[in-house]
Amino acid sequence: MADRPPYEGPNMIVIRFGGGARRRETIDPEHTFSPFLCREFAARGTLFMNMEIAQLKGLNTSHGEGTLNIVTGHYDQYQDVAGKFLGARFEPKVPTVFEYLRKAFNVPPHQTLLVNGEDRPDEEFYTFSNHFAYGIDYRCSMLSLYRFKAWRLRQQIADGRLSGAALEEQRKALAKWERLDARSARDEPPDPALESFWQRWANHYGESGLVNPRGDRLLTELTIRAIHELRPRLLMVNYQDCDYVHWGHLSHYTRAVAIMDEGLRRIVETVEADPEYRDRTIFVVVPDCGRDNNPLANVPCQHHFNSRSAHEIFALIAGPGVARGQVVDRMVDQTQLAGTIARLMGFTAEHAEGRLLEESIA
Ligand SMILES: [Zn+2]
Repeated sequence: MADRPPYEGPNMIVIRFGGGARRRETIDPEHTFSPFLCREFAARGTLFMNMEIAQLKGLNTSHGEGTLNIVTGHYDQYQDVAGKFLGARFEPKVPTVFEYLRKAFNVPPHQTLLVNGEDRPDEEFYTFSNHFAYGIDYRCSMLSLYRFKAWRLRQQIADGRLSGAALEEQRKALAKWERLDARSARDEPPDPALESFWQRWANHYGESGLVNPRGDRLLTELTIRAIHELRPRLLMVNYQDCDYVHWGHLSHYTRAVAIMDEGLRRIVETVEADPEYRDRTIFVVVPDCGRDNNPLANVPCQHHFNSRSAHEIFALIAGPGVARGQVVDRMVDQTQLAGTIARLMGFTAEHAEGRLLEESIA
């Protein structure tokens, strides 16, 4: 690690504006439920309004796939590693932007972060690829309620106050988690920076009697605390609550878009209030996938039927060196983001799509 140069480029915050959001409710001023993104933030950067997920045979437009398209810059027909039907525990074969950054520069794992929702345990594992030259040594760290609960279990077992059946129960719960995440549990020593992050989180929400926020509001809270306490250089937050529209109510989707927009606004304000982040941080806002617009469907706005609008997304890139108020309407592709992020940060994503989003690069 010591032989690598320190990282002196811009910080990068990637906002996964999902899970699954169409252009209509986001960047369309007539119909938007995200006024900050559409009417304020878009004007501060370059908006690619015609980004698509390619129509390739065997390719699914869903949350895990979209996330990996963004971080690897590469399409793959992912299959669950345990062969589980509809399982989404995928292992990318090419490196993620986190791995490229950490291989090129001396950046500790707790400064490369994925912030994840609590009801998608499969996505807990998108922190590294199985590429022979990269992989677990260059992984990013994950912040999520799962990670917090695992930390708490370890604490409770270690502090010796539990005994008998209660202790046995905690041990079983922890063993179940560690079986799920076997490689990390085995190969990754506890990171003191993360240990004290979770200790402060527990102090705040445990001893104060406050209940931590849930859903996408929790992701916003974790992100803001992480910026203050861990000082990330590359962070991706995976918003997901739009996806509750799978239960059947369009209002679940539109309300979630509004909550996510408020989260984006708070994260941008946090960056602007911080002298070390202000003018030194680039934002990328991009959905993992779009949503269907079939008006005859029983359940509106799904994304598994390969319809055109499930492939239609957008990307906004804003920050130092990126043209402000620029709108690009040529068709671009979701896999062009990884190489563009790499170029903006000053490294090369050698296995990613080589065409970049040139308009965003000064
Ligand atoms: Zn979904």
